[in-house]
Amino acid sequence: MQHHPARLIAKKRDGGTLSFAEIQDLVSGVVDGSLGDAQLGAFLMAVCCNGMTPEETAALTLAMRDSGRVLNHDHVKKKKVDKHSTGGVGDKVSLLLAPLVAAAGVAVPMVSGRGLGHTGGTIDKLASLPGYRTDLSLTRFGEVLEQCGYAMLSPSGEIAPADARMYATRDISGTVESIPLITSSILSKKLAEGIDGLVMDVKFGRASFMKEEHDATALMEGLVSTGRAAGIEMSALLTDMDHPLGLAIGNSLEVLEVIQALEGNCPGDLRDVTMALAVEMLLLAGVAPDAEAAEATLTRLWDDGVVRQVFRDNLELQGGDVRVIDEPSLLGRAPHVVPVEALRSGFVCDVDPLALGHCVVDLGGGRRQPTDEIDPLVGIVLRKTLGDEVHTGDVIAFVHASTDLAARDAAQAVLEAMTIGGERVKRRTLVKKRLA
Ligand code: URA
Repeated sequence: MQHHPARLIAKKRDGGTLSFAEIQDLVSGVVDGSLGDAQLGAFLMAVCCNGMTPEETAALTLAMRDSGRVLNHDHVKKKKVDKHSTGGVGDKVSLLLAPLVAAAGVAVPMVSGRGLGHTGGTIDKLASLPGYRTDLSLTRFGEVLEQCGYAMLSPSGEIAPADARMYATRDISGTVESIPLITSSILSKKLAEGIDGLVMDVKFGRASFMKEEHDATALMEGLVSTGRAAGIEMSALLTDMDHPLGLAIGNSLEVLEVIQALEGNCPGDLRDVTMALAVEMLLLAGVAPDAEAAEATLTRLWDDGVVRQVFRDNLELQGGDVRVIDEPSLLGRAPHVVPVEALRSGFVCDVDPLALGHCVVDLGGGRRQPTDEIDPLVGIVLRKTLGDEVHTGDVIAFVHASTDLAARDAAQAVLEAMTIGGERVKRRTLVKKRLA
């Protein structure tokens, strides 16, 4: 490092503003190890307490992006646009969105994460597809993108390596909840994908990273302005994560829901959020004149089975067993599938996504530690959801578990997470805000 790290850390501690060169220097110290763990922790805490100016956040994002490979897909003669969600329960949108948007002529190079805690990750869901590989070489990633319009990749040490060390340090130093740090962490990885545009799905509600609308709005604004400062087109939607998205929670169960959705059998909330994000992606790519035209194109592609065919093409190119589309039983099934029955009559007036997310982790379908193995087959499938009328003894959900004991514990947790009351309630607006 050219600058003295302790001086830069103290400058941030005292509320000063770091220059582009100073931030670059700190990030190179993160990657080459010359910035020690204590210094990194102190720097992150100083940022967490004092924030960063928009220019500092943009500089940090670009330095983190440039800490590894920045992909270039100039061989693909289409606009490249991706989506990133801040994470939720039952959020399988990426699996539907990528083939949907690719079918409409936009290239989607998607580097996704694994799940941690109660929120699922796209890479774990894809791993439950027999044979499907997300550990592609970067060359193969580019080829798949060109051949079917989208490609899915798990993060490797080659993409934004500074973020891996910074994120791990944030996790153990109480510095996760910082808008500049979250913004630079998310965008550095996305910018390294070689995209022209990015749509952010910023969630708010009980199962989201930012529970309160005003915090989620601040994050959304920070992401959009920093992405633009870094030179890509940006838009963002603020969407509801106060209830699960769709009916399935758990990796292979969510993939099954996606396969059914591609055939036209899609829960309304999942379809609405997927459509809203796809419309934004088409608008950013400039392939539709307005939202109505974008939605009409996407609806036709989905309903005519074109999206299903693109999904099949990608599945084949990434090594997956395409028979799974017609024979979803090839996904496998947990050994214990037990119904959860309503204890009273009335209306489902709450479905707590955080409780259900934790329940799936307890079943073995998610991780507590980054090194945990997950069981792809376990999870929960809701039979009733918010606002539905139920009678005593109706099946409100199925639990898929690896042991009978785990199934019974989970069934009890599902009963507690789904409140039945006397009044019919409606879900709040799914897409609360748009920033474009
Ligand atoms: N996702 C990321 O990649 N980084 C964060 O800091 C938060 C969510």
